[in-house]
Amino acid sequence: AAQEGFDAEEVEGALGEAGHGPLPVLAVVGRPNVGKSTLVNRIIGRREAVVEDRPGVTRDRVTYEAEWAGRRFKVVDTGGWEQDVLGIDASVAAQAEYAIEAADAVVFVVDATVGATDTDEAVVKLLRRAGKPVVLCANKVDGPSGEADAAMLWSLGLGEPMPVSALHGRGTGDMLDEVLKALPEAPAQTFGNAIGGPRRVALIGRPNVGKSSLLNKVAGEERVVVNELAGTTRDPVDELIELGGKTWKFVDTAGIRKRVHLQEGADYYASLRTAAAVEKAEVAVVLIDASETISVQDQRIITMAVEAGRAMVIAYNKWDTLDEERRYYLEREIETELQQVSWAPRVNVSAQTGRHMEKLVPAIETALAGWETRVPTGRLNAFLGELVAAHPHPIRGGKQPRILFGTQAGTKPPRFVLFASGFLEAGYRRFVERRLREEFGFEGTPIHISVRVRE
Ligand code: GDP
Ligand code: GDP
Repeated sequence: AAQEGFDAEEVEGALGEAGHGPLPVLAVVGRPNVGKSTLVNRIIGRREAVVEDRPGVTRDRVTYEAEWAGRRFKVVDTGGWEQDVLGIDASVAAQAEYAIEAADAVVFVVDATVGATDTDEAVVKLLRRAGKPVVLCANKVDGPSGEADAAMLWSLGLGEPMPVSALHGRGTGDMLDEVLKALPEAPAQTFGNAIGGPRRVALIGRPNVGKSSLLNKVAGEERVVVNELAGTTRDPVDELIELGGKTWKFVDTAGIRKRVHLQEGADYYASLRTAAAVEKAEVAVVLIDASETISVQDQRIITMAVEAGRAMVIAYNKWDTLDEERRYYLEREIETELQQVSWAPRVNVSAQTGRHMEKLVPAIETALAGWETRVPTGRLNAFLGELVAAHPHPIRGGKQPRILFGTQAGTKPPRFVLFASGFLEAGYRRFVERRLREEFGFEGTPIHISVRVRE
C-alpha cells in the first residue's frame, strides 16, 4: 500500500536494500516416491521439475524460496539423495538427520495409500529425538475417499495427519497454514555453513587480557566431544563447551590456546584471527583487562564486533586485582571510551578465581535475545508517531523534516528503515536510536537505522 508519499515499490526497494533477515528453513522428508518433489513443486508454486539435473554435480541438497500467506521461507527438498549408494533406509535416515541439522521445521511426507511402513516409523523416531516441529503430510489423498487412509496415520504419533494431494493441490493450503504455525519467524542459526546446533560465541580481546585462562576456566572438565553431537561441523578450532545447561560453540579457539609467538606482524595476525572469529560467531564476548587502562586496541576490537553486526557482551577480567582507585578510574574510562557500546551487557569477572563466571551465560543470552528482537510494524509506528509529536526535528532552512513511518527490515542485528520528508540530522538520528533502545531494549546488539528521504 502507498504510504504518505512513498509508493509501494519505493518501500519494497528500500527494504530490499536494507536486506531481509535470513529466512526460516522447512525440510521436506520421507521415503522415495511418497511425493516429496511433487509437494515441493506445489509449495514453491512451480510446475516444472525441482531437479535441474546438471551432469557431474552430486545433488545432495536443493533449497528454494517459497512464500505462503505473505511469509517467506526456504524449502529444502531432500529427495535427491543417492539411494543406490546408501540403501533406502540409510538414505531416508540421512535425510531426516539432515533435517534435524538444517531445518527449523519439517514436513514429513507419508504415502497415505500405502500407509506407515517400517522406514516411516524409523524416521518418526529420528524426528522425535530432534525435537523440531513436524507437520505430517498424508499424501496422495486425491479425493474424499482417501481421507480414511490419512486418518490411519494418527498412529504415527505425530499429531493430525494433513490429507494432501500434492499432485492436484488438494489440501496443500491447509497444510501450509500448519507449516507457518510451526515455522519460527527467523531461523535459529544463520551464519556460516553450520546451520543448526549450538550458538556460536567468539571470545576476543587483545593479547594477555585472559582469553586462554577464561576458556580453560569455563571449559574445565566439561568439554564436549565434538563427534558426539549431531549437527556440528568438526572444525578442530571450534570447541563445544557446556555452560549453564547448554552447549555453546566457542569458535576459533585454537588461536587462543596455542599461542604462536610471532614477533613480526603479530598484531596483524591477531586482528585477522579476531575478524575471522567474529565472522563465524553470532555473539562476541569481548574480554578487557580491567587492571589496565582501556586502550585503542580494545576499542578497535569492539568496533570490529559492532561493525560485523554481532551481538556483544563485554567482560572485564582480572577483577581480583582491582583496588578502590583502579575501580574508580575504570568506571570513568568506560564512560568516556566505551560510551558508544553502553548497550552491551557487562560482567566483571576473574578467570583466575572464577568470580562471576555464572553471569556470563545470562549476559550472552540477553545479548542474543536483543539481537533477534523484532518490533511489529504497528508498534513501531505508534512509537514513532509519539516520538515525532513530542520531539520534532529542529527546523532547518524554514523546513521541518519529519519521520513519516518506519519498519523493521531485519534482525540479527535489528535493522530499521525510516521514511522521512526531509534529511534527518545525525544528532536527531542518534536521538531516535536512543529512544528506540529505551522503548524496545535491544540490549547487547548494535542496531542499524537507515533513512529514506522523499524527493
Ligand atoms: P519423491 O520421490 O518423494 O520426491 O516423490 P515424487 O514427487 O517424485 O512422486 C513420486 C510419484 O508419486 C510420482 O509419480 C508422482 O506423480 C506421484 N505423486 C506425487 N504426489 C501425488 C499425489 O498427491 N497423488 C497421486 N495420485 N500421485 C502423486
Ligand atoms: P590471553 O593472551 O588473552 O589468552 O591471556 P592469558 O589467558 O594467557 O592471560 C594472560 C595473563 O593474565 C596470564 O599470566 C594469566 O595468568 C593472567 N590472568 C588471566 N586472567 C586473570 C585474572 O582473572 N586475574 C589475574 N590476576 N590474572 C589473570
